Amino acid sequence: MERPWHLRCIECGVAFDPLVVRYRCECGGILDVVHTFNAINRDRFRARRNSDHPADRSGVWRYREIVLPLADDEIVTRGEGNTNVYRSERLDAYCGVSGLALKHEGENPTGSFKDRGMAVGMSVARLLGVRAVACASTGNTSASLASYAAVAGLPAFVFIPGQHIASGKLSQTLAYGAHTLQLDGNFDKGMRIVQEVCARTSIYLLNSINPFRIEGQKSIGFELLDQLGWEVPDWIVLPGGNLGNSSAIGKGLQELHDLGIIDRLPRLAVIQARGANPLYRAYSAGEAVRPLAEVDTLATAIRIGDPVSWRKCVRALDACQGVVTDVDDAAIMDAKAQVDAAGIGAEPASCATVAGVRRLVSERVIAPTDRVCGILTGHLLKDPDTVISYHQGQLRGIPASLANPAQQVDAKLPQVLERVEAVLDASG
Ligand SMILES: *Cc1c(COP(=O)(O)O)cnc(C)c1O
Ligand SMILES: [Zn+2]
Repeated sequence: MERPWHLRCIECGVAFDPLVVRYRCECGGILDVVHTFNAINRDRFRARRNSDHPADRSGVWRYREIVLPLADDEIVTRGEGNTNVYRSERLDAYCGVSGLALKHEGENPTGSFKDRGMAVGMSVARLLGVRAVACASTGNTSASLASYAAVAGLPAFVFIPGQHIASGKLSQTLAYGAHTLQLDGNFDKGMRIVQEVCARTSIYLLNSINPFRIEGQKSIGFELLDQLGWEVPDWIVLPGGNLGNSSAIGKGLQELHDLGIIDRLPRLAVIQARGANPLYRAYSAGEAVRPLAEVDTLATAIRIGDPVSWRKCVRALDACQGVVTDVDDAAIMDAKAQVDAAGIGAEPASCATVAGVRRLVSERVIAPTDRVCGILTGHLLKDPDTVISYHQGQLRGIPASLANPAQQVDAKLPQVLERVEAVLDASG
């Protein structure tokens, strides 16, 4: 069957067939999906929100003409996307802006934006008729892969680091039934091994090096603009680890601009953790990214030293006057305490977004009057251990200024009442 797209090397431009098992060109470059778009009507996307059809209800497949135009029976979906946009006076004050809009991708079916890319990647895996799927992961990709593979009826292999995997993510991966191989080594090592394993077996790789994952993740930007009535914000701010998501949002916005659906591009701000900041080091100096052998951050979802998609990300940043900054773990955990206390909540890496907005406002890169949208990438419950340690004041080197530890009280009414009344009195 003819397909209205092909794959193309981002380095040398060589083209490949639309449906092939391939992640890199002979020259080593990674691949883009290049579309031949037909007339796009954005009102049609909006109308599909009222449909009961699973593909229309999905916040990915609703945009299928600009994501990947598949037939209904080719689509794998769990109704991903459809995530809320939150505003909070507390967080406006914290960041020094007015009307910060936070799109919460932790509200996806497995609790992170990875589900958007996985819906598309898993659909392609089934179309290709592969025997099994695999990924290396800091946790969220494995949770998503495990769930979508189970839905699609494909065996899944997951390669996770021996340490620093959040318990929520590991639980999901085991529960959904993926074959889970815990390697003694960090994510970057697992990423190199999984590419070799997939090259030598007939297993399909579903990391964000897979160009179809990127197509699904573009829908974060599409859905956000749809929710904003197609009013382009000044900034879209998000955390950067392997840099697939920033590449995806940038590619999608560029395509909307090329199609004339939006008349300008928002600026992207990519926020890295201080202990895993290879893009930040390179981009401000105008240099190529040099992998970091040692990385460390409590924001385990972005604990990555050798980002696979950095060239795609740089392309997106260059196209929109983007910026890259970094924030240390104390800033990330402080921002997280604020996001959590606002009643919204998110995992540590997500809150690099809010810490990054705060830093960029303080440096006058973002103006207080700019319209800023931040992406919260993962759910609060992904990493409960870090939350509890923070509130018990047990994270080394992290000031816990908003610590809210549980209090031990005898199970006797007078003692309990005394404690409750003390709190009521203190709060006036
Ligand atoms: C994957 C992930 C990121 C990083 O996204 P990249 O595409 O690797 O840059 C950030 N936050 C969370 C919660 C994630 O799961
Ligand atoms: Zn090439």
